[in-house]
Amino acid sequence: MKIAFFSTKTYDQTFMNQVNEEFGHEISYFDTGLSPSTAVLAQDHEAVCIFVNDQGNEETLKALKDQGVKLLALRSAGFNHVDIAKAEELGIKIVRVPAYSPYAVAEHALAMILTLNRKTHLAYSRVRDGNFSLERLTGFDLRGKTVGVIGTGAIGQVFAHIMMGVGCRVVAYDPRPNEELKQHVDFVGLPELFGQSDIISLHCPLTKETHYIINEEAIKQMKNSVMLINTSRGGLVDTKAVIKGLKDQRIGYFGLDVYEQEENIFFEDLSGAIIQDDMITRLMTFPNALITSHQAFFTQEAMTSIAETTLQNIRDFEEGKDLENEVVHSDK
Ligand code: NAD
Repeated sequence: MKIAFFSTKTYDQTFMNQVNEEFGHEISYFDTGLSPSTAVLAQDHEAVCIFVNDQGNEETLKALKDQGVKLLALRSAGFNHVDIAKAEELGIKIVRVPAYSPYAVAEHALAMILTLNRKTHLAYSRVRDGNFSLERLTGFDLRGKTVGVIGTGAIGQVFAHIMMGVGCRVVAYDPRPNEELKQHVDFVGLPELFGQSDIISLHCPLTKETHYIINEEAIKQMKNSVMLINTSRGGLVDTKAVIKGLKDQRIGYFGLDVYEQEENIFFEDLSGAIIQDDMITRLMTFPNALITSHQAFFTQEAMTSIAETTLQNIRDFEEGKDLENEVVHSDK
Protein backbone atom coordinates (compact mmCIF):
# COMPACT_ATOMS: atom_id res chain seq x y z
CA MET A 1 0.00 0.00 0.00
CA LYS A 2 1.15 3.58 -0.63
CA ILE A 3 1.79 5.25 2.70
CA ALA A 4 2.73 8.86 3.50
CA PHE A 5 4.78 9.04 6.68
CA PHE A 6 4.82 12.42 8.44
CA SER A 7 7.26 13.75 11.05
CA THR A 8 9.97 11.24 10.21
CA LYS A 9 13.55 11.53 11.33
CA THR A 10 16.45 9.42 10.10
CA TYR A 11 15.94 6.93 12.96
CA ASP A 12 12.25 6.40 12.00
CA GLN A 13 13.25 5.71 8.42
CA THR A 14 16.00 3.29 9.44
CA PHE A 15 13.70 1.09 11.55
CA MET A 16 10.73 1.31 9.12
CA ASN A 17 12.90 0.42 6.11
CA GLN A 18 14.39 -2.59 7.90
CA VAL A 19 10.98 -3.99 8.81
CA ASN A 20 9.38 -3.01 5.49
CA GLU A 21 11.70 -5.41 3.66
CA GLU A 22 9.21 -8.07 4.77
CA PHE A 23 6.08 -6.05 4.00
CA GLY A 24 6.93 -4.32 0.72
CA HIS A 25 4.75 -1.24 1.26
CA GLU A 26 5.47 1.82 -0.90
CA ILE A 27 6.56 4.50 1.56
CA SER A 28 7.00 8.27 1.12
CA TYR A 29 8.77 9.95 4.03
CA PHE A 30 8.17 13.58 4.97
CA ASP A 31 10.06 15.29 7.77
CA THR A 32 7.32 17.89 8.14
CA GLY A 33 4.49 17.35 10.62
CA LEU A 34 0.90 16.70 9.57
CA SER A 35 -1.34 19.79 9.71
CA PRO A 36 -4.13 21.21 7.54
CA SER A 37 -1.53 22.91 5.34
CA THR A 38 0.69 19.84 4.85
CA ALA A 39 -2.12 17.30 4.33
CA VAL A 40 -1.80 17.88 0.59
CA LEU A 41 1.43 15.84 0.67
CA ALA A 42 -0.77 12.78 1.24
CA GLN A 43 -2.13 13.02 -2.29
CA ASP A 44 -2.17 9.60 -4.01
CA HIS A 45 -1.58 7.76 -0.73
CA GLU A 46 -4.32 5.60 0.78
CA ALA A 47 -2.70 5.53 4.19
CA VAL A 48 -1.04 8.19 6.32
CA CYS A 49 1.21 7.44 9.26
CA ILE A 50 1.75 10.01 12.03
CA PHE A 51 3.40 10.47 15.42
CA VAL A 52 2.47 12.16 18.69
CA ASN A 53 2.85 15.84 17.75
CA ASP A 54 1.08 15.65 14.40
CA GLN A 55 -2.36 17.20 14.13
CA GLY A 56 -5.39 14.95 13.80
CA ASN A 57 -8.05 17.62 14.23
CA GLU A 58 -11.21 18.06 12.16
CA GLU A 59 -9.62 20.39 9.62
CA THR A 60 -6.69 18.06 8.98
CA LEU A 61 -8.90 14.99 8.74
CA LYS A 62 -11.14 16.71 6.18
CA ALA A 63 -8.06 17.70 4.16
CA LEU A 64 -6.84 14.07 4.27
CA LYS A 65 -10.23 12.82 3.17
CA ASP A 66 -10.06 15.22 0.20
CA GLN A 67 -6.73 13.61 -0.77
CA GLY A 68 -8.39 10.16 -0.77
CA VAL A 69 -6.84 8.92 2.49
CA LYS A 70 -8.71 5.97 4.02
CA LEU A 71 -6.46 4.95 6.90
CA LEU A 72 -4.60 6.93 9.57
CA ALA A 73 -1.96 4.77 11.23
CA LEU A 74 -0.60 6.13 14.50
CA ARG A 75 2.88 4.96 15.39
CA SER A 76 2.07 5.65 19.05
CA ALA A 77 -0.08 4.22 21.81
CA GLY A 78 -1.65 7.58 22.75
CA PHE A 79 -4.35 8.94 20.42
CA ASN A 80 -5.33 12.15 22.23
CA HIS A 81 -4.11 14.18 19.21
CA VAL A 82 -6.75 12.71 16.87
CA ASP A 83 -10.46 13.57 16.70
CA ILE A 84 -11.67 9.97 16.63
CA ALA A 85 -15.38 10.82 16.32
CA LYS A 86 -14.71 13.07 13.32
CA ALA A 87 -12.54 10.40 11.66
CA GLU A 88 -15.38 7.89 12.05
CA GLU A 89 -17.82 10.39 10.54
CA LEU A 90 -15.49 10.90 7.57
CA GLY A 91 -14.96 7.16 7.10
CA ILE A 92 -11.25 7.27 7.93
CA LYS A 93 -10.13 4.28 10.00
CA ILE A 94 -7.65 4.84 12.80
CA VAL A 95 -5.16 2.21 13.96
CA ARG A 96 -2.45 2.53 16.58
CA VAL A 97 0.34 0.63 18.32
CA PRO A 98 -1.34 -0.13 21.66
CA ALA A 99 1.74 -1.67 23.24
CA TYR A 100 5.32 -1.94 22.08
CA SER A 101 7.74 -1.96 24.94
CA PRO A 102 6.26 -0.93 28.27
CA TYR A 103 9.78 -1.62 29.61
CA ALA A 104 11.23 1.23 27.53
CA VAL A 105 9.01 3.87 29.16
CA ALA A 106 9.05 2.37 32.67
CA GLU A 107 12.86 2.08 32.61
CA HIS A 108 13.18 5.69 31.44
CA ALA A 109 11.04 6.77 34.41
CA LEU A 110 13.51 4.90 36.67
CA ALA A 111 16.44 6.60 34.89
CA MET A 112 14.88 10.00 35.62
CA ILE A 113 14.31 9.11 39.28
CA LEU A 114 17.91 7.95 39.76
CA THR A 115 19.35 10.95 37.93
CA LEU A 116 17.32 13.47 39.92
CA ASN A 117 17.95 11.68 43.20
CA ARG A 118 21.69 10.99 42.83
CA LYS A 119 22.29 14.15 40.75
CA THR A 120 24.38 12.38 38.13
CA HIS A 121 23.40 15.10 35.62
CA LEU A 122 25.15 17.67 37.85
CA ALA A 123 28.07 15.39 38.74
CA TYR A 124 28.78 14.68 35.06
CA SER A 125 29.37 18.33 34.12
CA ARG A 126 31.04 19.13 37.42
CA VAL A 127 33.72 16.46 37.01
CA ARG A 128 34.35 17.44 33.40
CA ASP A 129 35.10 20.93 34.73
CA GLY A 130 37.68 19.47 37.12
CA ASN A 131 35.37 19.96 40.13
CA PHE A 132 35.42 16.80 42.27
CA SER A 133 33.51 18.29 45.23
CA LEU A 134 30.48 16.47 46.66
CA GLU A 135 28.81 19.66 47.93
CA ARG A 136 25.04 19.67 47.16
CA LEU A 137 25.09 16.17 45.62
CA THR A 138 23.44 14.35 48.55
CA GLY A 139 20.81 11.83 47.47
CA PHE A 140 18.48 9.51 49.38
CA ASP A 141 18.03 5.73 49.56
CA LEU A 142 15.10 4.60 47.42
CA ARG A 143 14.58 1.59 49.66
CA GLY A 144 11.63 2.15 52.00
CA LYS A 145 10.27 5.19 50.15
CA THR A 146 6.66 5.32 48.95
CA VAL A 147 6.06 5.60 45.21
CA GLY A 148 2.64 6.68 43.90
CA VAL A 149 1.72 5.29 40.48
CA ILE A 150 -1.15 6.99 38.64
CA GLY A 151 -2.38 4.62 35.93
CA THR A 152 -1.66 0.90 36.22
CA GLY A 153 -1.93 -0.28 32.61
CA ALA A 154 0.94 -1.87 30.69
CA ILE A 155 3.57 0.75 31.62
CA GLY A 156 2.36 1.52 35.15
CA GLN A 157 2.41 -2.20 35.98
CA VAL A 158 6.02 -2.68 34.82
CA PHE A 159 7.07 0.54 36.58
CA ALA A 160 5.43 -0.57 39.85
CA HIS A 161 7.36 -3.87 39.74
CA ILE A 162 10.65 -2.07 39.02
CA MET A 163 10.13 0.22 42.02
CA MET A 164 9.21 -2.71 44.28
CA GLY A 165 12.40 -4.35 43.03
CA VAL A 166 14.49 -1.52 44.49
CA GLY A 167 12.68 -1.82 47.81
CA CYS A 168 9.99 0.85 47.51
CA ARG A 169 6.44 0.58 48.78
CA VAL A 170 4.03 1.26 45.94
CA VAL A 171 0.59 2.83 46.18
CA ALA A 172 -1.51 3.28 43.07
CA TYR A 173 -4.57 5.01 41.71
CA ASP A 174 -6.53 3.81 38.70
CA PRO A 175 -10.32 3.83 38.10
CA ARG A 176 -9.74 0.33 36.65
CA PRO A 177 -7.10 -1.16 38.96
CA ASN A 178 -4.67 -3.66 37.47
CA GLU A 179 -5.77 -7.12 38.68
CA GLU A 180 -2.26 -8.58 38.96
CA LEU A 181 -0.95 -5.55 40.86
CA LYS A 182 -3.72 -5.77 43.45
CA GLN A 183 -1.72 -8.56 45.12
CA HIS A 184 1.34 -6.34 45.63
CA VAL A 185 0.16 -2.75 45.79
CA ASP A 186 -2.30 -0.66 47.81
CA PHE A 187 -4.85 0.96 45.54
CA VAL A 188 -5.89 4.26 47.13
CA GLY A 189 -7.75 7.44 46.19
CA LEU A 190 -5.82 10.30 44.60
CA PRO A 191 -5.71 12.47 47.78
CA GLU A 192 -4.20 9.53 49.72
CA LEU A 193 -1.69 8.89 46.95
CA PHE A 194 -0.68 12.56 46.91
CA GLY A 195 -0.41 12.63 50.71
CA GLN A 196 1.66 9.43 51.11
CA SER A 197 4.06 9.44 48.16
CA ASP A 198 7.71 10.51 48.16
CA ILE A 199 7.79 9.97 44.39
CA ILE A 200 4.78 10.27 42.06
CA SER A 201 4.90 8.91 38.51
CA LEU A 202 2.21 9.40 35.86
CA HIS A 203 1.22 6.48 33.62
CA CYS A 204 -2.37 7.30 32.60
CA PRO A 205 -3.57 8.55 29.20
CA LEU A 206 -4.46 12.19 28.55
CA THR A 207 -8.25 12.54 28.54
CA LYS A 208 -10.73 15.24 29.60
CA GLU A 209 -10.71 13.67 33.09
CA THR A 210 -6.92 13.49 33.44
CA HIS A 211 -6.09 16.92 31.93
CA TYR A 212 -4.13 18.83 34.63
CA ILE A 213 -4.51 15.93 37.09
CA ILE A 214 -1.41 17.58 38.60
CA ASN A 215 -2.49 21.13 39.35
CA GLU A 216 -2.04 23.62 42.20
CA GLU A 217 -4.64 21.86 44.38
CA ALA A 218 -2.96 18.47 43.88
CA ILE A 219 0.49 19.91 44.63
CA LYS A 220 -0.83 21.35 47.92
CA GLN A 221 -1.79 17.82 49.00
CA MET A 222 1.69 16.39 48.30
CA LYS A 223 4.55 15.89 50.72
CA ASN A 224 7.14 18.62 50.90
CA SER A 225 10.04 17.91 48.50
CA VAL A 226 8.03 15.37 46.51
CA MET A 227 9.55 14.04 43.29
CA LEU A 228 7.21 14.26 40.27
CA ILE A 229 7.86 12.23 37.12
CA ASN A 230 5.85 12.62 33.93
CA THR A 231 6.64 10.23 31.07
CA SER A 232 3.01 10.05 29.97
CA ARG A 233 1.55 13.18 28.32
CA GLY A 234 2.36 16.85 28.89
CA GLY A 235 -1.27 17.88 29.36
CA LEU A 236 -1.52 15.84 32.56
CA VAL A 237 0.53 18.52 34.33
CA ASP A 238 -0.24 22.21 34.79
CA THR A 239 3.32 23.34 34.11
CA LYS A 240 2.77 26.81 35.59
CA ALA A 241 1.67 25.24 38.88
CA VAL A 242 4.75 22.99 38.89
CA ILE A 243 7.06 25.94 38.23
CA LYS A 244 5.47 27.70 41.21
CA GLY A 245 5.91 24.52 43.27
CA LEU A 246 9.60 24.35 42.31
CA LYS A 247 10.12 28.04 43.14
CA ASP A 248 8.39 27.63 46.53
CA GLN A 249 10.50 24.46 47.07
CA ARG A 250 7.35 22.42 47.72
CA ILE A 251 8.32 20.23 44.77
CA GLY A 252 11.80 18.82 45.35
CA TYR A 253 12.41 17.26 41.95
CA PHE A 254 10.65 17.30 38.58
CA GLY A 255 11.35 14.91 35.72
CA LEU A 256 9.51 15.48 32.48
CA ASP A 257 9.76 13.56 29.26
CA VAL A 258 6.59 15.13 27.87
CA TYR A 259 5.50 18.76 27.94
CA GLU A 260 2.12 20.36 27.33
CA GLN A 261 3.57 22.67 24.64
CA GLU A 262 6.14 20.24 23.23
CA GLU A 263 4.94 20.52 19.62
CA ASN A 264 7.57 22.38 17.54
CA ILE A 265 10.15 22.02 20.35
CA PHE A 266 10.65 18.36 21.16
CA PHE A 267 12.36 16.18 18.54
CA GLU A 268 13.95 19.32 16.98
CA ASP A 269 17.52 20.65 17.16
CA LEU A 270 16.94 24.23 18.35
CA SER A 271 20.50 24.75 19.55
CA GLY A 272 20.97 27.81 17.32
CA ALA A 273 17.52 29.28 17.87
CA ILE A 274 15.97 31.74 20.31
CA ILE A 275 13.45 29.57 22.15
CA GLN A 276 10.17 31.49 22.45
CA ASP A 277 8.50 29.21 25.01
CA ASP A 278 9.05 30.86 28.40
CA MET A 279 7.82 27.91 30.48
CA ILE A 280 10.29 25.38 29.09
CA THR A 281 13.16 27.89 29.36
CA ARG A 282 12.23 28.59 32.99
CA LEU A 283 12.14 24.85 33.69
CA MET A 284 15.59 24.51 32.11
CA THR A 285 17.02 26.81 34.81
CA PHE A 286 16.16 24.55 37.79
CA PRO A 287 18.99 22.23 38.87
CA ASN A 288 16.34 19.86 40.26
CA ALA A 289 14.34 19.63 37.02
CA LEU A 290 15.33 17.09 34.38
CA ILE A 291 13.94 17.43 30.87
CA THR A 292 14.16 14.78 28.19
CA SER A 293 12.58 15.31 24.83
CA HIS A 294 9.87 12.60 24.62
CA GLN A 295 12.48 9.87 24.44
CA ALA A 296 11.06 7.40 26.97
CA PHE A 297 9.88 5.06 24.19
CA PHE A 298 13.16 5.28 22.30
CA THR A 299 14.82 1.87 22.49
CA GLN A 300 15.80 -0.48 19.66
CA GLU A 301 13.19 -2.99 20.81
CA ALA A 302 10.40 -0.40 20.92
CA MET A 303 11.29 1.10 17.52
CA THR A 304 11.31 -2.35 15.90
CA SER A 305 8.03 -3.28 17.53
CA ILE A 306 6.40 0.05 16.51
CA ALA A 307 7.49 -0.53 12.90
CA GLU A 308 6.22 -4.15 12.89
CA THR A 309 2.81 -3.33 14.37
CA THR A 310 2.33 -0.23 12.18
CA LEU A 311 3.13 -2.05 8.95
CA GLN A 312 1.02 -5.07 10.00
CA ASN A 313 -1.92 -2.77 10.85
CA ILE A 314 -1.68 -1.30 7.36
CA ARG A 315 -1.42 -4.74 5.74
CA ASP A 316 -4.53 -5.92 7.64
CA PHE A 317 -6.44 -2.90 6.33
CA GLU A 318 -5.20 -3.52 2.79
CA GLU A 319 -6.32 -7.15 2.97
CA GLY A 320 -9.74 -6.23 4.43
CA LYS A 321 -9.07 -8.11 7.68
CA ASP A 322 -10.44 -7.21 11.12
CA LEU A 323 -8.40 -4.35 12.54
CA GLU A 324 -7.13 -5.64 15.86
CA ASN A 325 -5.63 -2.27 16.79
CA GLU A 326 -8.41 -0.01 15.55
CA VAL A 327 -9.25 3.00 17.73
CA VAL A 328 -12.98 3.63 17.95
CA HIS A 329 -14.83 6.52 19.53
CA SER A 330 -15.85 4.50 22.61
CA ASP A 331 -12.12 4.05 23.50
CA LYS A 332 -11.94 7.75 24.45
P1 NAD B 1 -2.61 1.52 29.11
O1 NAD B 1 -3.83 1.85 28.32
O2 NAD B 1 -2.09 0.13 29.14
O3 NAD B 1 -2.82 2.00 30.63
C1 NAD B 1 -3.39 3.23 30.97
C2 NAD B 1 -4.00 3.06 32.36
O4 NAD B 1 -4.44 4.36 32.79
C3 NAD B 1 -5.22 2.12 32.40
O5 NAD B 1 -5.07 1.15 33.40
C4 NAD B 1 -6.37 3.07 32.70
O6 NAD B 1 -7.40 2.46 33.47
C5 NAD B 1 -5.64 4.15 33.49
N1 NAD B 1 -6.42 5.38 33.61
C6 NAD B 1 -7.39 5.87 32.79
N2 NAD B 1 -7.90 7.00 33.31
C7 NAD B 1 -7.25 7.21 34.48
C8 NAD B 1 -7.36 8.20 35.48
N3 NAD B 1 -8.26 9.19 35.40
N4 NAD B 1 -6.54 8.12 36.54
C9 NAD B 1 -5.63 7.11 36.66
N5 NAD B 1 -5.50 6.14 35.75
C10 NAD B 1 -6.30 6.19 34.67
O7 NAD B 1 -1.49 2.52 28.57
P2 NAD B 1 0.10 2.38 28.70
O8 NAD B 1 0.62 1.62 27.55
O9 NAD B 1 0.44 1.95 30.07
O10 NAD B 1 0.55 3.90 28.46
C11 NAD B 1 0.22 4.92 29.39
C12 NAD B 1 0.50 6.26 28.75
O11 NAD B 1 1.91 6.40 28.55
C13 NAD B 1 -0.08 6.42 27.33
O12 NAD B 1 -1.41 6.88 27.38
C14 NAD B 1 0.82 7.46 26.72
O13 NAD B 1 0.24 8.73 26.92
C15 NAD B 1 2.10 7.35 27.54
N6 NAD B 1 3.27 6.95 26.73
C16 NAD B 1 4.36 7.75 26.70
C17 NAD B 1 5.48 7.38 25.97
C18 NAD B 1 6.74 8.22 25.93
O14 NAD B 1 7.61 7.98 25.08
N7 NAD B 1 6.92 9.17 26.80
C19 NAD B 1 5.46 6.18 25.25
C20 NAD B 1 4.32 5.37 25.32
C21 NAD B 1 3.23 5.75 26.07
